Amino acid sequence: MSISRNLFALNAELPPHVTLVAVSKSQPIERIKEAYAAGQRIFGENRVPELLQKYAALPKDIAWHFIGHLQRNKVRSIIPFVQLIQSVDSFPLLQEIEKRAAEEGKIIDCLLQVKIAQEETKFGLSFPEAEVALNEAVRFQHVHITGLMGMATNTDDTAIIRQEFCSLAQLFQKLKREFPALHVLSLGMSNDYQIAVEEGSTMVRIGSKLFGEK
Ligand SMILES: *Cc1c(COP(=O)(O)O)cnc(C)c1O
Repeated sequence: MSISRNLFALNAELPPHVTLVAVSKSQPIERIKEAYAAGQRIFGENRVPELLQKYAALPKDIAWHFIGHLQRNKVRSIIPFVQLIQSVDSFPLLQEIEKRAAEEGKIIDCLLQVKIAQEETKFGLSFPEAEVALNEAVRFQHVHITGLMGMATNTDDTAIIRQEFCSLAQLFQKLKREFPALHVLSLGMSNDYQIAVEEGSTMVRIGSKLFGEK
């Protein structure tokens, strides 16, 4: 299947309130151009050098999302180029984004990455940490927390995946009452986005199902 056909099929399948982020990490420029030509404008990258290189090479109306673990010393270099940082996984990182965005005179939209998977290796805030971060961030003028992001356990057991998505969707609904700026729930990748959408996702991050398996 071609990228444009995959994109067409995904857009036909996803409900209108769900935003598709094309995860273009490790994809060459030519393949991203194919998705762009087919209308896709939001792309996700998880490595800073790759994001900077692709930003420079591709049309400037692309909205770039950062979706990987972000080191604090790399924040400054992406501030001018990124539309949304989906992977804020610590409060010190949020403070650094505030500081660097202030220097640039920008306001950066961020999602808090919340840990829902069982795996030890996944980055993310605990539920209480996410709530504390939201309360603390109220005084920040240059970061705007617009939602939450989560990644389910990498398993074939769909009951586990659904339960993890559901738990974050419940936290999202609860926090939304206190923080009305929250409106993005970024849940779901190629293998689990259908479950994520059923559980209330408003943003899916899809790589292999769009660009093909590597
Ligand atoms: C790679 C990646 C994705 C996309 O994964 P696919 O299985 O290829 O769709 C989504 N989110 C994050 C954070 C990723 O690192």
